Amino acid sequence: MMGRSHIIIGVGVCGVLMAGGIIAPGRWEIIGAVAGSLAPDIDTPYSIIGRFLPFLAHPIHSIAGHRTASHSAIGVMVAIAVSAGLETWQAYLGLAFLAGYMAHIGADLMTKEGCAMLYPLSRRRYTVWPSVQTGGKGESLVVLIIAAMLGGMIYFLHPDVFAPAAWRAALLSHLTFPGIVSPPA
Ligand SMILES: [Zn+2]
Repeated sequence: MMGRSHIIIGVGVCGVLMAGGIIAPGRWEIIGAVAGSLAPDIDTPYSIIGRFLPFLAHPIHSIAGHRTASHSAIGVMVAIAVSAGLETWQAYLGLAFLAGYMAHIGADLMTKEGCAMLYPLSRRRYTVWPSVQTGGKGESLVVLIIAAMLGGMIYFLHPDVFAPAAWRAALLSHLTFPGIVSPPA
């Protein structure tokens, strides 16, 4: 999928985990979710993160190819190690990163191109329904539906997130996650 789709889904999944009390809300965690949602595409110099870190993207792309190493079970293990490191530095940052990373692979599995989950044992691409074309209208529709579902889950778990008073309070308290801070008296 496209970088923007990954950001929407990754931050949405992280938002559900925040609303459910699994990840403590905060701006660092949002940044971690965005980073994790873009990280797997370090395997192509044409992605957002690949353009940012071309000295990593070029060698990975020429050795392994796109949607192989970083989109496989091994890639997930590396992401778990990275998130454990982040976690010791800042609580919940690693969890948010991992949530974004896993959401990325889940989203790419829903495209026709799929992911080589068993790389380097096999280069076979795995894909799940609805197998949409990356960058096509199908992707936009799938992202819209997933975003609506995640938004619904956040509302179900923590309705205050969508209350105007909560947003005002959140803006007043330097952009901590809305709904968690108590509104000014
Ligand atoms: Zn990807």
